Amino acid sequence: SKNEISCIGCGALIQTEHPEEIGYAPPSSLEKEEIICQRCFRLKHYNEVQDVSLTDEDFLNILNKLSLTDSLIVKVIDIFDFNGSWLPGLHRFVGKNPILLIGNKVDLLPKSAKRNKLIQWMKSASKELGLKPLDVLLVSASKGIHIREALEQIEYYRKGKDVYIVGCTNVGKSTFINRIIKEVAGGQDVITTSHFPGTTLDMIEIPLDDGKALIDTPGIINHHQMAHFVHKNDLKIITPKKEIKPKVFQLNEEQTLFFGGLARFDYLKGGRRSFTCYLSNELMIHRTKLENADSLYQNHVGEMLQPPRKNELDQFPELVRHEFMIKDGKTDVVFSGLGWVTVNEPGAKVAAYVPKGVNVTVRRSLI
Ligand code: GDP
Repeated sequence: SKNEISCIGCGALIQTEHPEEIGYAPPSSLEKEEIICQRCFRLKHYNEVQDVSLTDEDFLNILNKLSLTDSLIVKVIDIFDFNGSWLPGLHRFVGKNPILLIGNKVDLLPKSAKRNKLIQWMKSASKELGLKPLDVLLVSASKGIHIREALEQIEYYRKGKDVYIVGCTNVGKSTFINRIIKEVAGGQDVITTSHFPGTTLDMIEIPLDDGKALIDTPGIINHHQMAHFVHKNDLKIITPKKEIKPKVFQLNEEQTLFFGGLARFDYLKGGRRSFTCYLSNELMIHRTKLENADSLYQNHVGEMLQPPRKNELDQFPELVRHEFMIKDGKTDVVFSGLGWVTVNEPGAKVAAYVPKGVNVTVRRSLI
């Protein structure tokens, strides 16, 4: 039956329903004699890697296999969503293998942000999360910033071993690897696929000079990101594409900011002070009095306060309130996948509202 056809490239079972999952091939391709999944097709013909997502179980399976290798692990995170793209517990899975941490999408941060300071921040945040990377790098895969340096560092730290690249979906891992392919191979047909024994999952291998390889692992979906709760069209609005222009607000106590209709920030107590919003430039910020905020939302979500749009409201989760007392210096209140608000001085009581299921965290200010 149709369900039992395997891809001649990677061996995955062919399916025609979920383009983002393993083994997808467009229905029309089933008429061919030899069936190849879309991912292998792109690899073969365009030397281009496409990310596939995995269930949590498959993903853990892969991570567990990494501990059996003798390799360098390169972990890619999205600097715009540091915590959301972190992959908690990686260090427990990779065994003794050293980890190089790469923060991608540095092009989104204001140019005024100091590179060294950002790297120091990433180092100490990693330490707090239980990871001690060999080194920390900041790149932009899509703009090609510091890619060559990243390659040099990988070459230096791998010490003749294989390299596994890990990261959750949407961190830009495919973009990064596609850049590397161009640098390493100059457009030659270099990619092979390989299996980890005991999994049905294929990995992309880029052969290196010394018989070793750079291996792309599938990404895992981070379910707590805003991206999963908004419509595809809205994703374009909330995902910043270029340098974020921070927006500063002088707020009195009991004032509220709405970020479209997706999230809300209440300033509750602490005297008049400034807050800096780091969000996609396209996302509209609306300021109001706290006492009017609930009714404003009820009456205007989907219209004045959008995204979400009116016709998406029935699928949009309710907003959930999280209250924080900011006791330490410059602190970010992070709306996972949407951005953050920097509380510039300590001593503020605030509340952050996000759709049910989205994470809110508080951290020492990134910038
Ligand atoms: P993957 O799921 O980790 O493989 O991520 P992709 O490579 O598919 O990239 C996810 C999204 O992030 C895409 O919209 C990319 O265009 C974007 N992206 C990737 N790298 C960068 C970068 O360096 N800067 C910015 N601003 N966007 C990037």
